[in-house]
Amino acid sequence: MNDETVTPMMAQYLDIKAQHPDAILFYRMGDFYEMFFHDAALAAEALDIALTKRGKHKGEDIAMCGVPVHSAEGYLLTLIRKGFRVAIAEQMEDPAEAKKRGSKSVVRREVVRLVTPGTLTEDSLLEARRHNFLAAFAEVRDEAALAWADISTGELRVTPCPLPRLLPELARLAPRELLLAEGREPDGLPEIGCAITSLARSSFDSTSAEKRLCALFAVGTLDSFGSFTRAEIAAMGALVDYLDLTQRGKLPLLRPPLREIAGGTVQIDASTRRNLEITAALSGGREGSLLAAVDRTVTAPGARLLERRLSSPSRDLPTIHARLAALRWLTEEPRLREDLRDSLRRVPDMDRALSRLALDRAGPRDLTAIRAGLTQAETVAARLPDTAPPLLAKAAASLRGHEGLIDLLDQALVAEPPLLTRDGGFIAPGFDADLDETRRLRDEGRGVIASMQAGFIDRTGIASLKIKHNNVLGYFIETTQTHAEKMHADPGFIHRQSTAGQVRFTTVELSELETRILNAGNHALELEKAHFATLRTTILNAAGAIGTAARALAEIDLATALADLAATEDWSEPQVDDSRAFAIEAGRHPVVERALRRSGTPFVANDCALSTADTPAIWLITGPNMAGKSTFLRQNALIALLAQAGSFVPARHAHIGVVSQLFSRVGAADDLARGRSTFMVEMVETAAILNQADDRALVILDEIGRGTATWDGLSIAWATLEHLHDQNRCRALFATHYHELTALAGKLRGVENATVSVKEWEGEVIFLHEVHKGAADRSYGVQVARLAGLPASVIDRARTVLDALESGERDSNTRRQTLIDDLPLFRAAPAPATPKPSPAIERLKQIHPDELTPLEALRLVYELKTLV
Ligand code: ADP
Repeated sequence: MNDETVTPMMAQYLDIKAQHPDAILFYRMGDFYEMFFHDAALAAEALDIALTKRGKHKGEDIAMCGVPVHSAEGYLLTLIRKGFRVAIAEQMEDPAEAKKRGSKSVVRREVVRLVTPGTLTEDSLLEARRHNFLAAFAEVRDEAALAWADISTGELRVTPCPLPRLLPELARLAPRELLLAEGREPDGLPEIGCAITSLARSSFDSTSAEKRLCALFAVGTLDSFGSFTRAEIAAMGALVDYLDLTQRGKLPLLRPPLREIAGGTVQIDASTRRNLEITAALSGGREGSLLAAVDRTVTAPGARLLERRLSSPSRDLPTIHARLAALRWLTEEPRLREDLRDSLRRVPDMDRALSRLALDRAGPRDLTAIRAGLTQAETVAARLPDTAPPLLAKAAASLRGHEGLIDLLDQALVAEPPLLTRDGGFIAPGFDADLDETRRLRDEGRGVIASMQAGFIDRTGIASLKIKHNNVLGYFIETTQTHAEKMHADPGFIHRQSTAGQVRFTTVELSELETRILNAGNHALELEKAHFATLRTTILNAAGAIGTAARALAEIDLATALADLAATEDWSEPQVDDSRAFAIEAGRHPVVERALRRSGTPFVANDCALSTADTPAIWLITGPNMAGKSTFLRQNALIALLAQAGSFVPARHAHIGVVSQLFSRVGAADDLARGRSTFMVEMVETAAILNQADDRALVILDEIGRGTATWDGLSIAWATLEHLHDQNRCRALFATHYHELTALAGKLRGVENATVSVKEWEGEVIFLHEVHKGAADRSYGVQVARLAGLPASVIDRARTVLDALESGERDSNTRRQTLIDDLPLFRAAPAPATPKPSPAIERLKQIHPDELTPLEALRLVYELKTLV
């Protein structure tokens, strides 16, 4: 073969690959997906599988690796997690058919699906309790919008999103993949931690987008779902276009778009989310987050709903009140709650099952998931009395009315079907007489043959006649030469073969039976597949109502879970209204409290009563490090967040005037990973708050200004506080170790001092973690340093400096400056003359451990002990 020749298969491969240059191509070859060339090298490394070679291309070895089809999902998951996209090319015909076209002909292959992080549907590729959002950002003239969809649940939403809001919105939604128009990628996106896919500008064209959306939802105009801006339509259109591309024309079951308006939810930016550890802890995982601490849901859709609620607390009083009313009622009904949770535990993820059914990627267990879900839905509805609060009553109403479908699925499906349709055995006996008969033939083929043999013996009188089977003839009747005559005489017997001593016959009846037996297995499977298809269609026709039931179950799951939490953790119903109040009585930090409980330490509950009469209302909190300032700050922010998410709160009582925006910043967090000066980050973030916070915002500032030299830091903290007070006029908690700031409380109306108390006992500090009004008398930093194990000489020196500074503080500013000049902070304490060497150390210096016997070593320990 000429080196330059490209085999037909390679030609096909290269052709398909050229259409998917940015994806790894899984090229189906029999029972394997194979990868070639650069793809093979990438995949072999990412998957840790062997890289081999197969044939030559243009004189060079072709690198190759492969994964078995039956275990491909695991490999896919690894590739997707590592940021790859995978194009799956399947064989579209039987290899025999290709052969018929000629010996050079290759099996037709097509890419049936492009697997990307935002377009997953398989349970094994998804996290059950988290959404998997695909987002698209579009700009049309001076408007911009963000649309997002979870194709595994069918959710589709859109919101106006001017560029500055993009990052906070992405932080809220945490999409897995973001679609952007080519050449329009905004700056700063690499930090968001999701895959970014650039699409041609044409995907974002709002006119074709509108057509696409109308076709998808089978409506003449999108107005039926509300009014959308051009940018919103463009963003949704890009999503649908991309789904069409990745799912190769099989569109997922998207629900009509919901438009979120900016004013509907509490605005929380990315840094605040991180600081408050709402859905993920600073370490990155779920453990240690607010979400993990409050999640008692028993279904995956319930868990996803909780995550959405905590990520987007509401600002709408009727919504908040309706959720709280449901919880209040459920906290008073412990028996009912347990009963509901019992039923809910048996509710599978109907949303995801529906999505797989729509994409034709489902198996029998998706059918039984719908059956189990709808059955439990009826039970849950029956358990909820008419007296239930409106939110629950409304949910209950959407659970009913599926009796017909449940009956059908009950009759049609076995209790525990296999995973794959192709395994068969999922349609219940008695559902289809034809199928039952087919299965009987398949399973009882032997018995049928035996009775047929008895019939032939009767007919011919040849007692030794036998029906046998081999691979060449299939079933045949065999007799000896001696009896053959009788058989030949009967025109019903057709001669097939004579061997030495044996003669073989068949009959029309036998060959028909044979065909039926041989085909019975296949036929049974075909019948089952046909039933699967019909059941699938029946379910999809009811998809809207099933989806509504699934959402209602998630709502009930969330309400019972939060009620359970409230009842068992002694949480109380917050009073949320239109006022400016912020009054928390005996509040606790849900995550810290949980962590402390493990070590048996009680959490000290604290009040936070921002003066309600005033706007602004600011508490300036001083106190030593480790006293509990950060905990106190965060617990108040979290209590507000939980209340507006519609949950009870960890406090004896809480009265909160609706919060519009929540900001939280920590001074000089170690942000080296992001490569910016920590102080710069701190200032940029503080600027964002001062520029944005309105008079309904709740602002939490922890040690702002800490990241720079003392006087700079103090001045910045001072000016920040004044700005919050004069311009933003918001509610704020401001923790600082600059005692100088406490003076502001007297000057600015609405600013009060609070401090976290500590006790000093024999020179040690004891943290009481109690917050009360007033300023801290001193910082105790030196004592805390001692606790941290700083050398005694450093502690002593620090005390001298501190005393000097504190006495200087009582004098004028200029004198303080002179004092500081006189007292070089960074000069080490004068070394004592020459420290006397310790005898133990001197003795140790003389020892050669290698030369010691164990006994000598032990003696030495005793000796050393006498020297110290
Ligand atoms: P600060 O911000 O003042 O340095 P932190 O808020 O980080 O202090 O609290 C330090 C530690 O003190 C926390 O890790 C926690 O274990 C404990 N702590 C804080 N607040 C309380 C409290 N109210 N009750 C009990 N322990 C607390």
